[in-house]
Amino acid sequence: MASLVSQSPSRFCETLKQLGTRRACLTFDPKERRVVASHPALNPLAEWLLSNTRDFAEHEAVFLQRSELSDTLMGAFVHKTVRGQPQGGLRFWPYDELDHFLSDGLRLAQGMGRKNALAGLWWGGGKGVIVRNPDAPFQNEGYRAALYREYGSFISSLNGAYVTAEDVGTRPSDMANVFATTRFVSCVPAEVGGSGNPSPATAKGVVCSMQASLEFAGLGSLEGKTVAMQGLGNVGAAMVGELLAAGVARIAAADISAANLEAARLRFQDAPVSLHLVERGDDHILTAPCDVLAPNALGGVLNPTTIPKIQAKIVCGAANNQLLDPERDAQLLAARGILCVPDFVANRMGIVNCANEQYGRLSEDPAILRHFDKHAPGSVFQVTLEVLRRASERGETPTMAANLLADELSQTPHPIWGNRTQHIIDDLVRTGWANG
Ligand code: NAD
Repeated sequence: MASLVSQSPSRFCETLKQLGTRRACLTFDPKERRVVASHPALNPLAEWLLSNTRDFAEHEAVFLQRSELSDTLMGAFVHKTVRGQPQGGLRFWPYDELDHFLSDGLRLAQGMGRKNALAGLWWGGGKGVIVRNPDAPFQNEGYRAALYREYGSFISSLNGAYVTAEDVGTRPSDMANVFATTRFVSCVPAEVGGSGNPSPATAKGVVCSMQASLEFAGLGSLEGKTVAMQGLGNVGAAMVGELLAAGVARIAAADISAANLEAARLRFQDAPVSLHLVERGDDHILTAPCDVLAPNALGGVLNPTTIPKIQAKIVCGAANNQLLDPERDAQLLAARGILCVPDFVANRMGIVNCANEQYGRLSEDPAILRHFDKHAPGSVFQVTLEVLRRASERGETPTMAANLLADELSQTPHPIWGNRTQHIIDDLVRTGWANG
């Protein structure tokens, strides 16, 4: 068992070739409570999934396909589909071992399901992952176009059992290529009929979450507050504008990209914003004196090394998976009296912005604007308050409270379609998708 999951993704592609297949799937049988592998030789993978209690949460299916173009492994991970089709972004990232690839896909699919449920979207949880081989010419536009078109065909073959979107490592032009070969995609560029860049909406949503946290903590509004920010990319830069509009007194922002800092310098010339060019691995900004800390760059930045030095009362940012170890690090933050808003509560607006783009766009869309309304039921502000209230009343961390609330909501069937995706998955297995 250990040997199969610790193979490199390239070696696993060879294994699939030796089995005479380019595809494989692992599906959960809820009656027998076991994972079924499409090929008996892959039973060790099914056993590994079941034994991985940290990342496997009875995910309905994992679909794998070997890219014919580059011997790269592609995956579609399906968590729960009770609320609707599983939807979540497509990550393009290097992985040394198959188990790292599988763990990432499983964890991210569950996170997307929770985010979608808390946002009130009629989507389930899913995630796509393409392994980025270190020796592949992954910056080459021609290579990417072929790879992402192939990924789109892979998704089409799943008959709607997963709907993809943009995520780390994937660019708007890649999304246009996915859209060229599948309809099961959202978050495509405006030029091909989509909703375009989700970052301004994400930034605005995170600021709503900050406002709710400050109010919950009895600290008033953002007016006059200081905010420290790690990462001044798409979301970070938009967030600076939102924070200035909310009347913050000062923003300190650190980034490793001189170009992004220069763009911000030009954009916010006369504003009270201090910009800091840092080396990769320099996390000083996380421990700067401030009222609110916004991690807007990478995951894993809240950990036993950084948490004891944080000076903010509120941590609320856009980055996914900010806690290195969700349970341990949420406890560490709570023990220090720091309110930490779970990422998927604060950063939902990216997916909300694109979730229903296939129905067309309005410039001032009430279906999206209501999420920014402080008083509207289910808005970012209201859900943040509810999570923090539940956590405080039940003696839980906000992460635990948000997970429990999202898991409850994930059980509500889609009001029109019911749990239709499970039938699509069953049909794919019955008709031998993995042998195609
Ligand atoms: P981005 O790539 O545009 O920006 C990230 C920025 O962080 C870059 O400017 C990069 O140089 C900087 N950075 C990287 N490592 C750093 C470090 N060690 N110290 C300081 N800066 C560093 O990405 P984005 O779209 O702005 O997204 C930011 C985060 O929010 C990501 O974790 C992403 O997954 C998450 N997120 C984004 C959206 C969205 O709508 N874009 C939605 C949900 C979640």
